[in-house]
Amino acid sequence: MIKTIGVDFDGVIHRYSKGWFDGTIYDEPIPGAISGLRLLMQHNAVFIHTARSARQVAEWLAEHGFETCVEGQIHAPIKFWTDRGRLLVTNRKLPAVAYLDDRAVKFTTWERALAEILPVGATPKLDAPAAGVMSVPVEELRVLVQLALCHAHSSSCLTSAANVAAVERIHAQLEGEQL
Ligand SMILES: [Mg+2]
Repeated sequence: MIKTIGVDFDGVIHRYSKGWFDGTIYDEPIPGAISGLRLLMQHNAVFIHTARSARQVAEWLAEHGFETCVEGQIHAPIKFWTDRGRLLVTNRKLPAVAYLDDRAVKFTTWERALAEILPVGATPKLDAPAAGVMSVPVEELRVLVQLALCHAHSSSCLTSAANVAAVERIHAQLEGEQL
């Protein structure tokens, strides 16, 4: 099944060194953007998600050698983009397994997101989690899953001390929750 990736334009593909400036696409591509997009398109369906005129962005991408299409030119609204041969340019946020964006804050919990976005000291004290709900860093859960899978597939699995320590921290947290 083809996975779809959404890619921001300004600051990710277009260098955007002067910000919005006069509304034109005035800058060169960011180093690696053209070859990076081509490589992505070999494996994924890629669409460009932009606040600019989709036609303006499509023309710029075409000048840099990409086959493009603009969502407004397609009769029915697109629900999913699954074409690897060309770039769709759209103003809508379509379903994707990942978004590549220079202004993104990756969401894990509201507490972390607010701490990253708000000024220092402005983070409010959020409600305590409900009974039976605990906050575990996603990276540690990934390690746990990795270890569990490793154990399931091989009895001679080698793990790092850091991985073992991460699992022990989660285990201790779980033990505390049960008390
Ligand atoms: Mg941007």
